[in-house]
Amino acid sequence: MSRDITERVRRAIYDTFAAEGHAPGLQHIQELTTADEAQVREAIAELAAQRQLALDQSGNVVMAHPFTTVNLGFSVMGERTLWWGGCAWDSFAIPSLVNDEPSVLVATTCPGCLRPLAWTVTRSGPPEGPEVAHFLVPMDRVWNDVVYACSNQRLFCSEHCVQAWLACTGHAMGYIMDLATLWRLASGWYSGRLDSPYQRKDPQSAADYFRSAGLHGPFWGLND
Ligand SMILES: [Zn+2]
Ligand SMILES: [Zn+2]
Repeated sequence: MSRDITERVRRAIYDTFAAEGHAPGLQHIQELTTADEAQVREAIAELAAQRQLALDQSGNVVMAHPFTTVNLGFSVMGERTLWWGGCAWDSFAIPSLVNDEPSVLVATTCPGCLRPLAWTVTRSGPPEGPEVAHFLVPMDRVWNDVVYACSNQRLFCSEHCVQAWLACTGHAMGYIMDLATLWRLASGWYSGRLDSPYQRKDPQSAADYFRSAGLHGPFWGLND
């Protein structure tokens, strides 16, 4: 499989998600890339193996981070486009990634008390608020089941609501951060995904990025 076709298929998926809020179908990818169906299928499988896409059991695109085709608890409303936000991290990332949507409304429900929560998220600085994000799955296990991991990266009213949710679900505490830390994590993490060529961050640059966002400890693969 030529690298060129794989990259064209990646861009067709990402560009359509960014502009329209959903993934293109196989036929549409073929039109956008001038590749045939077998080449498109092969490229999608390769991108999934590289963790650039998450697929369902039938091979359909479920996630192209930060975009997703399914409801994982977040909506992200821009000026022209409405997206499912994959998780707290992904939802906060969209206004920094999508050039002509610099300000969005991120809405969700607190898993602890079911209260509706919403923030205007921009690329100029974190939203104000007492709410916290809780991530359940440590980074080194996220890709064991990335849809499960994303669906458990949620925003809560407070640490009290996180504790209530943990008690109710029986999960152990993951990692709690404030809105400013979540925004720093999200704002640059996906940069470059709408450009070619794109390389995912290697483990060292990922660790450096997490540290610069103000994250700590083994949950993030960090020693400190
Ligand atoms: Zn709550
Ligand atoms: Zn996510």
